[in-house]
Amino acid sequence: NIAYFNDRFIPVDQAVVPIEERGLQLGDGVYEVLCIYNGVPFTLKEHLDRLEQSANAIEIDLPQSKEKLAELAWEGIRKAGIENGTLYMQVTRGTAPRNHLFPENITPNLYLVWKHGAPDFSKYKAEGAAVFTVADERWKNCYIKSINLLPNLLAKEQAKRKGGQEALLVQDEWAKEGSSSNLFIVKNGHFKTPQADHSILKGITRQKLITVLNEHQIKVSEQPISLTEVLEADEVFMTSTTMEVLPVVSVDGKQIGAGKPGDYFRQLTAWYSELVAQECKP
Ligand code: PLP
Repeated sequence: NIAYFNDRFIPVDQAVVPIEERGLQLGDGVYEVLCIYNGVPFTLKEHLDRLEQSANAIEIDLPQSKEKLAELAWEGIRKAGIENGTLYMQVTRGTAPRNHLFPENITPNLYLVWKHGAPDFSKYKAEGAAVFTVADERWKNCYIKSINLLPNLLAKEQAKRKGGQEALLVQDEWAKEGSSSNLFIVKNGHFKTPQADHSILKGITRQKLITVLNEHQIKVSEQPISLTEVLEADEVFMTSTTMEVLPVVSVDGKQIGAGKPGDYFRQLTAWYSELVAQECKP
């Protein structure tokens, strides 16, 4: 496992971040997480594009070009010798005496961490996951992948304490997304996922799955999903870079569909694995 800060590679456990780093003190930054399969960073371009969009949304310019960032991503994979793992990328406004106002002439900080291995969701992919609803108390710009994750952490922790694996964030009667994942439902063969407006993160896994489904002549409606629709769905999934596709078999203790991972889940997982195999050849 190795890291990179601004201009050099370092061991992950080495002290490096300056005390007045604005990401640390103010949460003034954005991030990405991507998966490495067979030594290849999956959907690297998409993650770099979203990193730039998030940074620009809070008036930060990327400290390096996306081409240079892509080279760095590959360099770290080679240096750490990663076959399967993750890459965390963070860009903050920079280092300056603490002040709410944006400091002038500040240089953004770049911070990367490569890790061997990824979280293991195989148990929940086999048995299905339990999710619990939590009121979505986040701000109105959840399309920005900001490092301010407190509401997401509190929600996931709450779901975990009830025995669940993920929180389903709800606004009034609407189911929006997970604390770190997007939502899909299927009813009578019809796929639905909430529209990617400013109220949710436009997940890259979500986009990939929509494309894969479309390639198989399956349309996905991008529109609001009520909690009732989730409860009455035949199958429910949460999707993210590290979870890929997670089948949800209960919401707030109420059984979804047959109460076990269904045929659409199996099909979707197979298509997703094919995509990964195509794009990440050893
Ligand atoms: N929604 C939120 C709030 C997230 O934090 C994440 C990922 O961490 C996702 C959705 C899924 O996005 P992606 O598929 O790009 O990992």
